[in-house]
Amino acid sequence: MITVNNKDQILGLLGKDIEFSLSPKIHNYLSNIMGLNYHYFIFDIEDQTDLKKAIEAILVLKIRGVNVTIPYKKDVIKYLDRIDQNVKRLGAVNTIKNEEGELVGYNTDLDGFDELAYNKGVNFAHKTVSLIGAGGAAAAVVYYLAKTDLKKLYLINRTISRAEQLKKDFLQDILQIEVIELSGDRLSTAIDHSDIIINSTPLGLQDRYEQISPIKAELIKEKHTVIDLVYKPRITKLLQDAKDKDARIISGIEMLIYQAVKSFEIWTGSIVEYDLVKELINNL
Ligand code: NAP
Repeated sequence: MITVNNKDQILGLLGKDIEFSLSPKIHNYLSNIMGLNYHYFIFDIEDQTDLKKAIEAILVLKIRGVNVTIPYKKDVIKYLDRIDQNVKRLGAVNTIKNEEGELVGYNTDLDGFDELAYNKGVNFAHKTVSLIGAGGAAAAVVYYLAKTDLKKLYLINRTISRAEQLKKDFLQDILQIEVIELSGDRLSTAIDHSDIIINSTPLGLQDRYEQISPIKAELIKEKHTVIDLVYKPRITKLLQDAKDKDARIISGIEMLIYQAVKSFEIWTGSIVEYDLVKELINNL
């Protein structure tokens, strides 16, 4: 039971089919434990044509801010007053702040991946990476990778044209990018040449694709570091296959929590202590 008073402020999540999101749990926990007065709700927008009205409602209802998720991260940009540098580069928003009547778009997925890589000590310098998927999350990863001294990036996707577009967007930043079809002949060579494998498709996701991995188990070797952006379940089929080969595995849960923490800091202006983040990761 939530008790709301006049000082309380509203936060929320805009997306479609998002009833199972962990975001309310994370943000309400943070607000509560930090003694703040924010309440986070799910705003499921079933019909794309209602998106504009939902954005206008942020101002009308004086909502402090929202996260934006699939499938609205790109479409939402045209309704905002301002976007930050990361959004300009990535073309996707996952956080909107109501700054005294002005709607400003940010992308904290990038911060999420950055923190995950830093905290787990993943070093990308002079490494070859296979990134599976070429959607919004993949773009955030490529943007991060562009700032590392990467040796080579294999962009692996079901739809080649989408991976080609992502390659074009970052060609100036990463010298060697090769596009590979997920079901194509070159997949095993790409994985074999890679040090790090990152899954940014929803394959492995609970309830929808749970027992599915984007690649066959036999392609994974002990030398690999395998990162799965899917965080539910914590150990996906891909991570289990990698674990069975004694490869290093990293779950996307930390990325989820750090992107949430960054959004929370943007909305509230409060800094979340690292110990609190660790507590969240262990208890979620
Ligand atoms: P997106 O923009 O819709 O992109 C989805 C990508 O997955 C596309 O490359 C798509 O390939 C591929 N894909 C989808 N279904 C597939 C299938 N059945 N077989 C093969 N490939 C398939 O979504 P997104 O925003 O990048 O998010 C992708 C996933 O990343 C989400 O499901 C979520 O679990 C995870 N994620 C995690 C975090 C985190 O904080 N840990 C943050 C963001 C996202 P096509 O181009 O061929 O359609």
